[in-house]
Amino acid sequence: MKTHPVTLIPGDGIGPEVVHAAQRIIDASGVRIAWETAHAGASVFLKGVASGVPADTIDSISRTRVALKGPLETPVGHGEKSANVTLRKLFETFANLRPIREFPGVPTPYAGRGIDLVVVRENVEDLYAGIEHMQTPGVAQCLKLISHKGCEKIARLAFEVARAQGRTSVHCATKANIMKLTEGLLKRTFESLAPEFPDLKAQHIVVDNCAHQLVKKPEQFEVIVTTNMNGDILSDLTSALVGGLGFAPSANLGHEVAIFEAVHGSAPKYAGKDVANPTALILSGVMMLRHLGEMAAAERIENAVLVTLADGRSVTRDVVGDERAAGTTAFADAVIGNLGRTPAEVQARSQKPLKVPVRGDRIVTVQPKTRSDLGMDIFIEAALQPAVLGDLLTGLAGPAGFKLKMISNRGTQVYPSRGAGTDCIDHWRCRFLDLQPAATPDLARVHRLLESIETAGLRWMQIEKLPEFDGQPGFTKAQGED
Ligand code: NAP
Repeated sequence: MKTHPVTLIPGDGIGPEVVHAAQRIIDASGVRIAWETAHAGASVFLKGVASGVPADTIDSISRTRVALKGPLETPVGHGEKSANVTLRKLFETFANLRPIREFPGVPTPYAGRGIDLVVVRENVEDLYAGIEHMQTPGVAQCLKLISHKGCEKIARLAFEVARAQGRTSVHCATKANIMKLTEGLLKRTFESLAPEFPDLKAQHIVVDNCAHQLVKKPEQFEVIVTTNMNGDILSDLTSALVGGLGFAPSANLGHEVAIFEAVHGSAPKYAGKDVANPTALILSGVMMLRHLGEMAAAERIENAVLVTLADGRSVTRDVVGDERAAGTTAFADAVIGNLGRTPAEVQARSQKPLKVPVRGDRIVTVQPKTRSDLGMDIFIEAALQPAVLGDLLTGLAGPAGFKLKMISNRGTQVYPSRGAGTDCIDHWRCRFLDLQPAATPDLARVHRLLESIETAGLRWMQIEKLPEFDGQPGFTKAQGED
């Protein structure tokens, strides 16, 4: 029998308790794991490691390529980056699989409806790239980066997840109706890949309606693929449908490395009290065993969890309340006692190994036949009325060979005025069309325009080109722009 090396990260708060419970159950199932304990999170931040992930931990995961981790505390709103996000990015775990299903013995308003779905969340792009700037002292910006390559990988993986799990349909949930270029890229990529999977029904759904439908009729979904931020929110919602965060496992999948963890955090108020529900971490371990090819052991543990929950005698306080509750340790003991038993109602879904899209060595570029730049948006800080700013910039644009087309304030055109009642801030997107457009813009004229903007006492903080690829604009219009 093969021994699998796995990095074990106990984590913060309730982490060590739920991780230990999962570890004991996995060991009792008969599979052979060589655990390597490593650390990340609060204790590591306290030692002054700004990433929250020390070199030893990175080395261990690079070697084992598989980690089972507890939740890590994240500083909120200031200071260090999240150690979780650091791990995801370091090992390019581009996909986050978050399955949920109805559990016997766990009362919810949805009991009996057979909820059984998986959210496939893109895991490294979107707003989580964490590229933020204070553009003015009063205006913050976060870049929402979505790549064709990222969309292709996550959409393809979602179809492969559906196949591996014997599903019949995949929904793609995006906000493409508003963010046509970024969210739209996932929708378009998903739709372009769908014909490769004729056995699966592929459908797009607007993400807010997806949230609504998930509450109204969750049993209609099997696989939902979505961008990072949407996936974060939708998957917390889906965990609530089946009993809460204590029941939601996840897998962070990369090409080389996979990290398995519960969706929940460190729940600090329950730390050290032996009351946390370890089911999410145990089921994350089940996902890990399937990833390692240990399908039979995974099924044994999942069925033992289902038997234990259905039996109801040894379940945690989040299911039965404080009076009748078993502790974390007692629940894990009960699962170990139930290994080998098959639940009467719902059973573990039998699964085939998942095909993860392969990583190419090349830097992939999308090559249009033609490309040109029509001009640029210059972002300017100024405490002027739009009409005053517009007239001033119109005067500066001409001598540099540009024409001011419009100015928008938080996306709405305010110059020339369309009568919008915009409550303007001191942050303006000023759209200049190049009067001599070319494949590469004339930098001398760009400099001249920027210099005259500065000389006029205005501050510019960002320039975005206005590209056209294959005759299609690579930028969106402002609200109200012709
Ligand atoms: P949380 O730790 O997930 O806890 C929120 C609530 O969910 C708890 O108060 C509890 O609800 C319930 N809960 C979570 N896990 C449970 C379990 N195993 N058993 C029973 N109930 C459970 O979220 P948070 O309080 O927002 O975050 C705490 C810290 O964790 C933060 O530092 C955050 O950044 C971090 N975090 C880490 C990860 C990760 O490592 N992947 C993920 C999310 C958050 P009741 O109060 O209703 O009992």
